[in-house]
Amino acid sequence: MTDRVAIITGGSRGIGRATAIAAASRGFRVCVGYASNEAAAISVVSTIEAKNGKAIAIKCDVRKETDILALFEAADKFGTLGALVNNAGIVDKASRIDEMSAERLQRMMAINVIGSILCAREAVKRMSTRHNGKGGVIINLSSVAAKLGSPNTYVDYAASKGAIDSFTIGLGYEVAAEGIRVAAIRPGLIDTEIHALSGEPDRAHRLGHTVPMKRAGTADEIANAIVWLMSDNASYVTSAILDVSGGR
Ligand code: NAP
Repeated sequence: MTDRVAIITGGSRGIGRATAIAAASRGFRVCVGYASNEAAAISVVSTIEAKNGKAIAIKCDVRKETDILALFEAADKFGTLGALVNNAGIVDKASRIDEMSAERLQRMMAINVIGSILCAREAVKRMSTRHNGKGGVIINLSSVAAKLGSPNTYVDYAASKGAIDSFTIGLGYEVAAEGIRVAAIRPGLIDTEIHALSGEPDRAHRLGHTVPMKRAGTADEIANAIVWLMSDNASYVTSAILDVSGGR
């Protein structure tokens, strides 16, 4: 995988940022996708370059197919694609289903589910041996919410991550004989800025004591698991979903 390109959607902040830096330190040339926070994406690129790694920042709102196509075209110019990390994701205001608008549900599914599937489609077109590709890895960001269901908070988010689990299993089988491994990580409560979207920026700390390990996790702890799955050390792992959740 040395010198292969890794695309990380939502690589500008949180888990994506940590993954971009960890992947670059293991020799990947990293395409850092971002939705709107260009300064954060450029900061990731600068951090990687300061350690003699290679990275570029590409604006890509995964709701837009045209943005996704442009992201993959930029990656093609950067080198041969070896990995996709479908990391971009959102939550929304904590609420019951009674208060969820159709617009919210469409946004949730467009970003968390359809964006990931479209990115995977583009990755398969490039990496599959069926298309004369050299193989590769697709890592999807699920959540323990897929198991817990997140009642009274965001059942829509939990359902979007349940879809990611099914997609991971099915796509893994579909491309297993074409040189592509597919796996998902289910993070638990991780200390990032995503919780501000739920209306509670301090959510990871408030609920940390409810985790069997009695604390929230860090973005680096998720990134470490992702780069292991991206590596040849995980060469027999596919259609697999790994909980990285302190036991949650
Ligand atoms: P975060 O800190 O809020 O960062 C989100 C990243 O996604 C940012 O880089 C953001 O880009 C990008 N993004 C947001 N909307 C996007 C869109 N429409 N198109 C492309 N990129 C978009 O989130 P995080 O906590 O690192 O979460 C990363 C992933 O892990 C998500 O899939 C999330 O569901 C999952 N996860 C997180 C936790 C947790 O507790 N943190 C737990 C389980 C699962 P900008 O910087 O441009 O805004």
